[in-house]
Amino acid sequence: MTEYAETLSVGLAGGAHHHSSPERLEELGVVGAGGGGFPAAAKFKTKVSMVIANAAECEPLLHKDKELLQHFSEPFLLGMQMTMEMVGASEGVVGIKEKYHDIIGALESVAPSRIRVVPLPDCYPAGDEFILVHLVTGRVIPPGGLPKDVDTVVSNVETLINIALDRPVTHKYLTVAGAVANPVTLCVPVGITIGEAIEAAGGATVDDIGILIGGVMMAKPAPSLDIPVTKTTGGIIVLPASHSLIQRHNAPLIQVNRIGRSACDQCRFCTEFCPRFLLGHPIQPHRAMQSLGFAMGADPMVATLYCCECNLCTMYACPEDLDPKNVCVQAKPLARERGLVFKGDPASITPHPMAEFRRVPMRRLIAKLGLGEFNNAGPLIDHTFSPRKVNLLLKQHAGGPAAPVVKCGDRVRVGDLLAMPPQGQLGARIHASIDGVVTVHSDSVTIEA
Ligand code: SF4
Ligand code: SF4
Repeated sequence: MTEYAETLSVGLAGGAHHHSSPERLEELGVVGAGGGGFPAAAKFKTKVSMVIANAAECEPLLHKDKELLQHFSEPFLLGMQMTMEMVGASEGVVGIKEKYHDIIGALESVAPSRIRVVPLPDCYPAGDEFILVHLVTGRVIPPGGLPKDVDTVVSNVETLINIALDRPVTHKYLTVAGAVANPVTLCVPVGITIGEAIEAAGGATVDDIGILIGGVMMAKPAPSLDIPVTKTTGGIIVLPASHSLIQRHNAPLIQVNRIGRSACDQCRFCTEFCPRFLLGHPIQPHRAMQSLGFAMGADPMVATLYCCECNLCTMYACPEDLDPKNVCVQAKPLARERGLVFKGDPASITPHPMAEFRRVPMRRLIAKLGLGEFNNAGPLIDHTFSPRKVNLLLKQHAGGPAAPVVKCGDRVRVGDLLAMPPQGQLGARIHASIDGVVTVHSDSVTIEA
Protein backbone atom coordinates (compact mmCIF):
# COMPACT_ATOMS: atom_id res chain seq x y z
CA MET A 1 0.00 0.00 0.00
CA THR A 2 1.32 3.45 -0.86
CA GLU A 3 2.45 5.64 2.01
CA TYR A 4 -0.33 8.09 1.22
CA ALA A 5 -3.05 5.44 1.22
CA GLU A 6 -1.65 3.97 4.43
CA THR A 7 -2.30 7.23 6.23
CA LEU A 8 -5.92 6.98 5.23
CA SER A 9 -6.34 3.47 6.56
CA VAL A 10 -4.66 3.84 9.95
CA GLY A 11 -7.37 5.97 11.43
CA LEU A 12 -5.74 9.39 11.04
CA ALA A 13 -4.33 9.07 14.51
CA GLY A 14 -1.06 10.65 13.52
CA GLY A 15 -2.02 14.28 13.41
CA ALA A 16 -5.44 15.02 12.02
CA HIS A 17 -7.54 17.36 14.10
CA HIS A 18 -11.19 16.49 14.39
CA HIS A 19 -12.35 19.94 13.46
CA SER A 20 -11.58 22.28 10.59
CA SER A 21 -12.33 25.78 9.39
CA PRO A 22 -12.41 27.66 6.07
CA GLU A 23 -9.08 29.25 7.02
CA ARG A 24 -7.52 25.82 7.56
CA LEU A 25 -8.87 24.56 4.21
CA GLU A 26 -7.34 27.61 2.55
CA GLU A 27 -3.94 26.74 4.07
CA LEU A 28 -4.23 23.15 2.83
CA GLY A 29 -5.32 24.05 -0.71
CA VAL A 30 -8.45 21.87 -0.58
CA VAL A 31 -10.64 22.20 -3.67
CA GLY A 32 -13.66 20.32 -5.03
CA ALA A 33 -12.13 17.05 -6.19
CA GLY A 34 -15.13 16.01 -8.27
CA GLY A 35 -14.07 18.13 -11.24
CA GLY A 36 -15.25 21.67 -10.49
CA GLY A 37 -12.24 22.57 -8.35
CA PHE A 38 -14.13 25.19 -6.36
CA PRO A 39 -12.02 26.25 -3.37
CA ALA A 40 -13.41 24.50 -0.28
CA ALA A 41 -12.52 27.48 1.92
CA ALA A 42 -14.97 29.66 0.00
CA LYS A 43 -17.68 27.01 -0.25
CA PHE A 44 -17.72 26.09 3.44
CA LYS A 45 -18.02 29.64 4.73
CA THR A 46 -21.75 29.18 4.27
CA LYS A 47 -24.18 28.11 7.04
CA VAL A 48 -26.71 25.44 6.04
CA SER A 49 -28.55 22.61 7.75
CA MET A 50 -27.55 19.74 5.45
CA VAL A 51 -24.26 18.49 3.99
CA ILE A 52 -24.69 16.17 1.00
CA ALA A 53 -21.77 13.94 0.05
CA ASN A 54 -21.80 13.47 -3.71
CA ALA A 55 -20.93 9.84 -4.40
CA ALA A 56 -23.23 9.57 -7.42
CA GLU A 57 -20.28 9.23 -9.80
CA CYS A 58 -22.36 8.99 -12.95
CA GLU A 59 -19.66 9.36 -15.60
CA PRO A 60 -19.46 5.98 -17.36
CA LEU A 61 -16.36 3.89 -16.47
CA LEU A 62 -15.29 5.99 -13.44
CA HIS A 63 -15.14 4.42 -9.97
CA LYS A 64 -12.90 6.43 -7.65
CA ASP A 65 -15.63 7.68 -5.29
CA LYS A 66 -17.16 4.22 -4.92
CA GLU A 67 -13.69 2.78 -4.27
CA LEU A 68 -12.87 5.48 -1.71
CA LEU A 69 -16.09 4.78 0.19
CA GLN A 70 -15.36 1.07 0.12
CA HIS A 71 -11.79 1.36 1.38
CA PHE A 72 -11.76 4.55 3.44
CA SER A 73 -15.13 4.94 5.13
CA GLU A 74 -13.51 6.07 8.39
CA PRO A 75 -11.78 9.22 7.08
CA PHE A 76 -14.76 9.89 4.84
CA LEU A 77 -17.20 9.91 7.78
CA LEU A 78 -14.76 11.98 9.82
CA GLY A 79 -14.51 14.54 6.99
CA MET A 80 -18.28 14.58 6.75
CA GLN A 81 -18.65 15.33 10.46
CA MET A 82 -15.93 17.99 10.37
CA THR A 83 -17.71 19.66 7.45
CA MET A 84 -21.10 19.46 9.14
CA GLU A 85 -19.59 21.14 12.20
CA MET A 86 -17.94 23.80 10.01
CA VAL A 87 -21.19 24.81 8.26
CA GLY A 88 -23.46 24.26 11.28
CA ALA A 89 -25.37 21.38 9.67
CA SER A 90 -27.44 19.02 11.77
CA GLU A 91 -27.83 16.45 9.01
CA GLY A 92 -25.44 14.65 6.68
CA VAL A 93 -26.56 12.66 3.64
CA VAL A 94 -24.50 10.37 1.42
CA GLY A 95 -25.95 10.15 -2.10
CA ILE A 96 -24.70 6.94 -3.71
CA LYS A 97 -26.07 4.68 -6.45
CA GLU A 98 -28.44 2.04 -5.08
CA LYS A 99 -26.56 -0.68 -7.01
CA TYR A 100 -23.71 -0.44 -4.50
CA HIS A 101 -25.74 -2.09 -1.76
CA ASP A 102 -22.68 -3.67 -0.07
CA ILE A 103 -21.09 -0.24 0.39
CA ILE A 104 -24.40 1.24 1.52
CA GLY A 105 -24.79 -1.52 4.13
CA ALA A 106 -21.23 -1.08 5.38
CA LEU A 107 -21.61 2.71 5.63
CA GLU A 108 -24.93 2.47 7.43
CA SER A 109 -23.43 0.10 10.00
CA VAL A 110 -20.73 2.59 11.06
CA ALA A 111 -22.24 6.01 10.33
CA PRO A 112 -23.36 8.14 13.28
CA SER A 113 -27.10 8.75 13.53
CA ARG A 114 -26.81 12.28 12.07
CA ILE A 115 -25.54 10.83 8.78
CA ARG A 116 -27.81 8.75 6.54
CA VAL A 117 -27.44 7.17 3.14
CA VAL A 118 -29.84 7.97 0.28
CA PRO A 119 -29.65 5.36 -2.51
CA LEU A 120 -29.81 6.96 -5.95
CA PRO A 121 -31.12 5.54 -9.24
CA ASP A 122 -28.41 4.32 -11.62
CA CYS A 123 -28.93 7.08 -14.16
CA TYR A 124 -27.06 9.95 -15.82
CA PRO A 125 -26.47 12.70 -14.63
CA ALA A 126 -27.28 11.86 -11.00
CA GLY A 127 -24.08 13.59 -9.85
CA ASP A 128 -25.06 17.01 -11.22
CA GLU A 129 -25.49 19.11 -8.05
CA PHE A 130 -28.95 20.32 -9.04
CA ILE A 131 -30.17 16.80 -9.81
CA LEU A 132 -28.52 15.35 -6.70
CA VAL A 133 -30.05 17.94 -4.38
CA HIS A 134 -33.46 17.28 -5.92
CA LEU A 135 -33.10 13.50 -5.63
CA VAL A 136 -32.04 13.80 -1.98
CA THR A 137 -34.31 16.57 -0.71
CA GLY A 138 -37.05 17.08 -3.33
CA ARG A 139 -36.00 20.77 -3.47
CA VAL A 140 -35.13 22.56 -6.73
CA ILE A 141 -32.18 24.94 -6.72
CA PRO A 142 -33.30 28.01 -8.70
CA PRO A 143 -31.73 28.73 -12.12
CA GLY A 144 -28.27 30.17 -11.61
CA GLY A 145 -28.49 29.38 -7.89
CA LEU A 146 -26.39 27.32 -5.52
CA PRO A 147 -27.19 24.41 -3.17
CA LYS A 148 -27.09 26.89 -0.26
CA ASP A 149 -30.22 28.54 -1.74
CA VAL A 150 -32.10 25.43 -0.60
CA ASP A 151 -30.21 25.10 2.71
CA THR A 152 -27.69 22.48 1.57
CA VAL A 153 -24.05 22.23 0.60
CA VAL A 154 -22.69 19.48 -1.68
CA SER A 155 -19.22 18.02 -1.52
CA ASN A 156 -17.39 15.29 -3.40
CA VAL A 157 -16.31 12.21 -1.39
CA GLU A 158 -12.60 12.79 -1.98
CA THR A 159 -12.87 16.43 -0.87
CA LEU A 160 -14.35 15.28 2.45
CA ILE A 161 -11.48 12.81 2.88
CA ASN A 162 -8.99 15.59 2.17
CA ILE A 163 -10.67 17.66 4.89
CA ALA A 164 -10.28 14.79 7.35
CA LEU A 165 -6.61 14.29 6.44
CA ASP A 166 -5.89 17.86 7.51
CA ARG A 167 -2.74 18.18 5.44
CA PRO A 168 -1.82 19.85 2.15
CA VAL A 169 -3.44 18.29 -0.91
CA THR A 170 -0.57 16.61 -2.74
CA HIS A 171 -2.20 13.48 -4.18
CA LYS A 172 -5.22 12.69 -6.33
CA TYR A 173 -7.40 9.61 -6.73
CA LEU A 174 -8.46 8.83 -10.28
CA THR A 175 -9.71 5.97 -12.44
CA VAL A 176 -7.83 4.98 -15.60
CA ALA A 177 -10.21 3.10 -17.91
CA GLY A 178 -11.04 2.19 -21.48
CA ALA A 179 -8.50 0.57 -23.78
CA VAL A 180 -5.89 -0.13 -21.06
CA ALA A 181 -4.61 -3.50 -19.85
CA ASN A 182 -5.90 -3.09 -16.26
CA PRO A 183 -8.62 -0.50 -15.68
CA VAL A 184 -7.97 0.64 -12.11
CA THR A 185 -8.31 3.41 -9.57
CA LEU A 186 -5.00 4.90 -8.43
CA CYS A 187 -3.63 7.39 -5.92
CA VAL A 188 -1.14 9.57 -7.80
CA PRO A 189 1.04 12.55 -6.89
CA VAL A 190 -0.46 15.72 -8.39
CA GLY A 191 1.63 16.81 -11.37
CA ILE A 192 2.61 13.43 -12.84
CA THR A 193 1.70 13.06 -16.50
CA ILE A 194 -1.44 11.28 -17.66
CA GLY A 195 0.96 9.03 -19.60
CA GLU A 196 2.51 7.84 -16.31
CA ALA A 197 -0.96 7.11 -14.91
CA ILE A 198 -1.87 5.15 -18.05
CA GLU A 199 1.36 3.12 -17.72
CA ALA A 200 0.39 2.28 -14.12
CA ALA A 201 -2.85 0.85 -15.54
CA GLY A 202 -0.83 -1.51 -17.71
CA GLY A 203 -0.62 0.79 -20.71
CA ALA A 204 -2.86 1.21 -23.74
CA THR A 205 -4.01 -1.92 -25.54
CA VAL A 206 -4.17 -0.24 -28.95
CA ASP A 207 -1.52 1.75 -30.82
CA ASP A 208 -3.49 4.72 -32.06
CA ILE A 209 -5.28 6.24 -29.07
CA GLY A 210 -7.38 9.20 -28.11
CA ILE A 211 -7.59 10.30 -24.48
CA LEU A 212 -10.45 11.94 -22.62
CA ILE A 213 -9.80 13.58 -19.25
CA GLY A 214 -12.48 13.66 -16.59
CA GLY A 215 -14.80 11.08 -18.11
CA VAL A 216 -16.53 10.63 -21.43
CA MET A 217 -19.62 12.84 -21.12
CA MET A 218 -18.08 16.03 -19.73
CA ALA A 219 -14.62 15.21 -21.00
CA LYS A 220 -11.84 17.34 -22.29
CA PRO A 221 -9.79 15.64 -25.02
CA ALA A 222 -6.10 15.46 -24.05
CA PRO A 223 -3.76 16.61 -26.82
CA SER A 224 -0.78 14.65 -25.45
CA LEU A 225 0.37 12.13 -22.86
CA ASP A 226 2.36 14.90 -21.14
CA ILE A 227 -0.69 16.68 -19.73
CA PRO A 228 -0.25 16.85 -15.94
CA VAL A 229 -2.73 15.40 -13.43
CA THR A 230 -4.35 18.15 -11.36
CA LYS A 231 -6.36 18.24 -8.13
CA THR A 232 -9.53 17.80 -10.22
CA THR A 233 -8.54 14.96 -12.57
CA GLY A 234 -11.00 12.22 -11.62
CA GLY A 235 -10.57 9.99 -14.62
CA ILE A 236 -8.46 9.25 -17.68
CA ILE A 237 -10.25 7.39 -20.46
CA VAL A 238 -8.17 5.81 -23.22
CA LEU A 239 -10.02 4.87 -26.41
CA PRO A 240 -9.01 3.84 -29.92
CA ALA A 241 -8.53 7.03 -31.97
CA SER A 242 -11.21 5.75 -34.34
CA HIS A 243 -13.83 5.49 -31.55
CA SER A 244 -16.89 7.65 -32.24
CA LEU A 245 -16.46 9.49 -28.90
CA ILE A 246 -12.97 10.64 -29.82
CA GLN A 247 -14.18 11.65 -33.26
CA ARG A 248 -17.05 13.65 -31.74
CA HIS A 249 -14.93 15.43 -29.16
CA ASN A 250 -12.44 16.41 -31.85
CA ALA A 251 -14.97 17.50 -34.49
CA PRO A 252 -14.32 21.09 -35.69
CA LEU A 253 -16.99 23.49 -34.40
CA ILE A 254 -17.54 25.09 -37.80
CA GLN A 255 -18.49 21.71 -39.27
CA VAL A 256 -20.69 20.87 -36.26
CA ASN A 257 -22.60 24.14 -36.68
CA ARG A 258 -23.00 23.77 -40.45
CA ILE A 259 -24.46 20.26 -40.15
CA GLY A 260 -26.62 21.33 -37.21
CA ARG A 261 -28.10 24.19 -39.24
CA SER A 262 -29.11 21.96 -42.12
CA ALA A 263 -30.09 18.79 -40.26
CA CYS A 264 -32.00 19.87 -37.12
CA ASP A 265 -35.64 19.03 -37.68
CA GLN A 266 -36.75 20.58 -34.35
CA CYS A 267 -37.96 17.24 -33.01
CA ARG A 268 -37.34 18.53 -29.41
CA PHE A 269 -35.77 15.26 -28.21
CA CYS A 270 -32.79 17.23 -26.91
CA THR A 271 -35.11 19.33 -24.75
CA GLU A 272 -37.38 16.49 -23.67
CA PHE A 273 -34.37 14.53 -22.31
CA CYS A 274 -32.52 17.55 -20.88
CA PRO A 275 -32.20 16.93 -17.11
CA ARG A 276 -32.25 20.64 -16.27
CA PHE A 277 -35.38 21.19 -18.42
CA LEU A 278 -36.99 18.24 -16.62
CA LEU A 279 -36.08 19.90 -13.33
CA GLY A 280 -38.20 22.89 -14.40
CA HIS A 281 -35.35 25.20 -15.46
CA PRO A 282 -35.85 27.39 -18.55
CA ILE A 283 -33.20 25.68 -20.73
CA GLN A 284 -34.56 24.37 -24.07
CA PRO A 285 -31.70 23.28 -26.34
CA HIS A 286 -33.92 22.83 -29.41
CA ARG A 287 -34.60 26.57 -29.30
CA ALA A 288 -30.88 27.25 -29.08
CA MET A 289 -30.47 25.12 -32.22
CA GLN A 290 -32.72 27.53 -34.09
CA SER A 291 -30.02 30.16 -33.60
CA LEU A 292 -27.82 28.37 -36.12
CA GLY A 293 -30.22 29.64 -38.77
CA PHE A 294 -31.68 32.77 -37.18
CA ALA A 295 -30.49 35.36 -34.65
CA MET A 296 -31.20 34.05 -31.17
CA GLY A 297 -33.88 35.82 -29.16
CA ALA A 298 -33.28 36.91 -25.57
CA ASP A 299 -35.32 34.11 -23.99
CA PRO A 300 -33.56 31.09 -25.52
CA MET A 301 -30.24 32.91 -25.11
CA VAL A 302 -30.63 33.50 -21.38
CA ALA A 303 -31.84 29.92 -21.05
CA THR A 304 -28.50 28.60 -22.30
CA LEU A 305 -26.90 29.97 -19.14
CA TYR A 306 -28.69 27.23 -17.23
CA CYS A 307 -27.26 24.38 -19.32
CA CYS A 308 -24.97 22.31 -17.07
CA GLU A 309 -23.11 20.92 -20.11
CA CYS A 310 -23.94 17.34 -19.20
CA ASN A 311 -23.92 16.51 -22.93
CA LEU A 312 -26.95 14.22 -22.70
CA CYS A 313 -28.70 16.06 -25.53
CA THR A 314 -25.72 15.63 -27.85
CA MET A 315 -24.45 12.19 -26.86
CA TYR A 316 -27.78 10.48 -26.20
CA ALA A 317 -30.95 12.30 -27.16
CA CYS A 318 -30.46 13.74 -30.63
CA PRO A 319 -31.46 11.23 -33.33
CA GLU A 320 -29.48 13.20 -35.92
CA ASP A 321 -26.18 13.13 -33.99
CA LEU A 322 -26.17 16.92 -33.78
CA ASP A 323 -24.50 18.95 -31.02
CA PRO A 324 -27.06 21.08 -29.13
CA LYS A 325 -24.81 21.17 -26.07
CA ASN A 326 -22.08 23.00 -27.96
CA VAL A 327 -24.62 25.41 -29.41
CA CYS A 328 -25.65 26.25 -25.83
CA VAL A 329 -22.01 26.62 -24.79
CA GLN A 330 -21.38 29.03 -27.67
CA ALA A 331 -24.40 31.15 -26.73
CA LYS A 332 -23.48 31.55 -23.04
CA PRO A 333 -20.86 34.29 -23.48
CA LEU A 334 -23.32 36.26 -25.64
CA ALA A 335 -25.95 36.01 -22.91
CA ARG A 336 -23.40 37.16 -20.30
CA GLU A 337 -22.23 40.03 -22.52
CA ARG A 338 -25.81 41.22 -22.75
CA GLY A 339 -26.24 40.90 -18.99
CA LEU A 340 -29.19 38.53 -19.36
CA VAL A 341 -30.45 36.69 -16.28
CA PHE A 342 -33.45 34.58 -15.38
CA LYS A 343 -36.27 36.91 -14.39
CA GLY A 344 -38.92 34.33 -13.47
CA ASP A 345 -40.10 33.55 -9.96
CA PRO A 346 -37.96 30.72 -8.52
CA ALA A 347 -40.97 29.61 -6.48
CA SER A 348 -42.83 28.89 -9.71
CA ILE A 349 -40.26 26.32 -10.84
CA THR A 350 -41.57 22.80 -10.66
CA PRO A 351 -40.13 19.63 -12.13
CA HIS A 352 -41.67 18.18 -15.30
CA PRO A 353 -44.34 15.56 -14.44
CA MET A 354 -42.48 12.98 -16.60
CA ALA A 355 -39.04 13.71 -15.13
CA GLU A 356 -38.82 10.46 -13.18
CA PHE A 357 -39.62 8.39 -16.27
CA ARG A 358 -37.18 10.16 -18.58
CA ARG A 359 -34.10 9.38 -16.54
CA VAL A 360 -31.43 7.79 -18.70
CA PRO A 361 -30.21 4.47 -17.24
CA MET A 362 -26.43 4.05 -17.24
CA ARG A 363 -26.57 0.73 -19.09
CA ARG A 364 -28.46 2.36 -21.97
CA LEU A 365 -26.05 5.28 -22.02
CA ILE A 366 -23.01 3.00 -22.02
CA ALA A 367 -24.48 0.96 -24.90
CA LYS A 368 -25.33 4.09 -26.90
CA LEU A 369 -21.81 5.45 -26.42
CA GLY A 370 -20.24 2.20 -27.64
CA LEU A 371 -18.49 1.62 -24.32
CA GLY A 372 -19.91 -1.83 -23.48
CA GLU A 373 -16.59 -3.60 -24.07
CA PHE A 374 -14.81 -1.16 -21.72
CA ASN A 375 -17.12 -1.51 -18.72
CA ASN A 376 -15.06 -2.25 -15.62
CA ALA A 377 -15.09 -2.25 -11.82
CA GLY A 378 -12.08 0.10 -11.49
CA PRO A 379 -10.65 -1.49 -8.32
CA LEU A 380 -8.32 0.65 -6.22
CA ILE A 381 -4.80 -0.79 -6.41
CA ASP A 382 -1.61 -0.04 -4.53
CA HIS A 383 0.90 1.51 -6.85
CA THR A 384 3.86 3.49 -5.64
CA PHE A 385 4.83 6.29 -7.99
CA SER A 386 8.41 7.57 -7.87
CA PRO A 387 8.32 10.27 -10.54
CA ARG A 388 11.56 12.00 -11.49
CA LYS A 389 9.58 15.13 -12.23
CA VAL A 390 6.14 16.64 -11.57
CA ASN A 391 4.53 19.67 -13.19
CA LEU A 392 2.08 21.53 -10.94
CA LEU A 393 -0.19 23.93 -12.79
CA LEU A 394 -0.74 27.29 -11.10
CA LYS A 395 -4.39 27.17 -12.12
CA GLN A 396 -5.98 23.84 -11.29
CA HIS A 397 -9.05 25.16 -9.51
CA ALA A 398 -11.90 27.64 -9.96
CA GLY A 399 -10.71 31.26 -9.70
CA GLY A 400 -7.45 32.83 -10.75
CA PRO A 401 -3.99 31.23 -11.00
CA ALA A 402 -1.89 31.02 -7.86
CA ALA A 403 1.28 33.12 -7.65
CA PRO A 404 4.56 31.26 -6.95
CA VAL A 405 6.19 31.81 -3.54
CA VAL A 406 9.26 29.77 -4.52
CA LYS A 407 12.04 30.56 -6.99
CA CYS A 408 14.12 28.54 -9.40
CA GLY A 409 16.64 26.35 -7.59
CA ASP A 410 14.74 26.16 -4.29
CA ARG A 411 14.69 22.73 -2.69
CA VAL A 412 11.28 21.63 -1.42
CA ARG A 413 9.77 18.69 0.45
CA VAL A 414 6.36 17.08 -0.07
CA GLY A 415 3.69 19.40 1.33
CA ASP A 416 5.75 22.60 1.11
CA LEU A 417 3.88 25.64 -0.19
CA LEU A 418 4.69 26.48 -3.83
CA ALA A 419 2.10 29.08 -4.76
CA MET A 420 -0.86 30.95 -3.30
CA PRO A 421 -3.70 33.09 -4.66
CA PRO A 422 -3.11 36.84 -4.86
CA GLN A 423 -4.57 38.66 -1.82
CA GLY A 424 -8.35 38.79 -1.85
CA GLN A 425 -8.78 36.67 -5.00
CA LEU A 426 -10.64 33.38 -5.34
CA GLY A 427 -8.15 30.54 -5.83
CA ALA A 428 -6.23 27.81 -4.06
CA ARG A 429 -2.76 27.16 -2.71
CA ILE A 430 -0.50 24.67 -4.50
CA HIS A 431 1.86 22.40 -2.57
CA ALA A 432 4.81 20.21 -3.56
CA SER A 433 3.83 16.63 -4.33
CA ILE A 434 7.40 15.24 -4.32
CA ASP A 435 10.75 16.24 -2.81
CA GLY A 436 13.09 18.01 -5.22
CA VAL A 437 14.35 21.18 -6.86
CA VAL A 438 11.96 23.79 -8.22
CA THR A 439 11.76 25.49 -11.62
CA VAL A 440 9.19 28.27 -11.94
CA HIS A 441 7.37 28.73 -15.29
CA SER A 442 4.67 31.19 -16.35
CA ASP A 443 1.82 28.75 -15.77
CA SER A 444 3.33 26.02 -13.59
CA VAL A 445 6.00 25.00 -11.13
CA THR A 446 8.01 21.88 -11.90
CA ILE A 447 9.90 19.84 -9.31
CA GLU A 448 12.71 17.50 -10.27
CA ALA A 449 13.59 14.80 -7.78
S1 SF4 B 1 -32.80 16.45 -30.88
FE1 SF4 B 1 -31.42 17.04 -32.57
S2 SF4 B 1 -32.73 17.21 -34.36
FE2 SF4 B 1 -34.09 17.22 -32.57
S3 SF4 B 1 -34.37 19.40 -32.06
FE3 SF4 B 1 -32.64 18.69 -30.85
S4 SF4 B 1 -30.84 19.14 -32.11
FE4 SF4 B 1 -32.61 19.26 -33.46
S1 SF4 C 1 -25.90 19.71 -22.19
FE1 SF4 C 1 -27.89 19.49 -23.17
S2 SF4 C 1 -29.01 18.07 -21.90
FE2 SF4 C 1 -27.33 18.83 -20.67
S3 SF4 C 1 -28.15 20.61 -19.58
FE3 SF4 C 1 -27.22 21.38 -21.47
S4 SF4 C 1 -28.90 21.48 -22.91
FE4 SF4 C 1 -29.58 20.14 -21.24
